[in-house]
Amino acid sequence: MRNPSSHNIRGIVFLLVIAALCAIASREFLSARKDEPLYPSSTLKTTKRLSDYFAGIRNTRADTPVYIFEGREPGGTMLVLGGTHPNEVAGFLTTYLLVENVSVSRGRLLVIPRANHSAFTTTEPGEAQPAQFEIKTAGGMRAFRCGGRFTNPLDQWPDPEVYLHFPSGQQLSGAETRNMNRAYPGRASGDFTERAANAITALVRAEKVDLVIDLHESSPEYPVINAIVAHERAMDMAALANLSLQSEGLNFALEPSPQNFHGLTHRELGDA
Ligand SMILES: [Zn+2]
Repeated sequence: MRNPSSHNIRGIVFLLVIAALCAIASREFLSARKDEPLYPSSTLKTTKRLSDYFAGIRNTRADTPVYIFEGREPGGTMLVLGGTHPNEVAGFLTTYLLVENVSVSRGRLLVIPRANHSAFTTTEPGEAQPAQFEIKTAGGMRAFRCGGRFTNPLDQWPDPEVYLHFPSGQQLSGAETRNMNRAYPGRASGDFTERAANAITALVRAEKVDLVIDLHESSPEYPVINAIVAHERAMDMAALANLSLQSEGLNFALEPSPQNFHGLTHRELGDA
């Protein structure tokens, strides 16, 4: 018969090993909730929070910084959104570059690099997405998180069978209820994602934004790859932007925003 005290010691050692493994895994899991620091350029005037425009998201993972740059001369106001879909790296990385390098001489530029902040705290391992990536910079290696396409289920769950868009009544599959780019214009009394979209719509109104650019990536099989999708009110400006891009050797398509496809920035903020 074995000595019972050796059983106890083995059991305690086993539990300690499990506890150590849990601590290591938890640390990595919780690190996904930390925002990497950004270092704004010298034309930054102030930094606000999205909850300054709609208090209904204060102290939630929907709240996120709004970087406001201002030139010396008066002019229009532009809002650039990154991270509506944090699995689309080019979208949010462009806004990080803007925040750190932009020089505004006229008008105002507002940048929200993590528009769906909650979706940055989750990943898409089933899609073979890396949790983070690194870029070599003059100041050393910098690591950036990848997020998921949808709001973190910890913030909004369960999904309904059918997602009914407000106010159009458009029906989409249930998971789309956590897709920020199907939630616009949002609503103050809505679910987590609708409230986050409502905060951005409130910002557009409060800051009298003239132009909104929402940056995305697209899968190769979609027609909106290398394309600007523009509301009919913005079509002239989008065409000029495309000509400007073409003059620099960048061939982009120009797609009209579908009038009956609701919840997207280019439709709902254009209609607002
Ligand atoms: Zn997208």
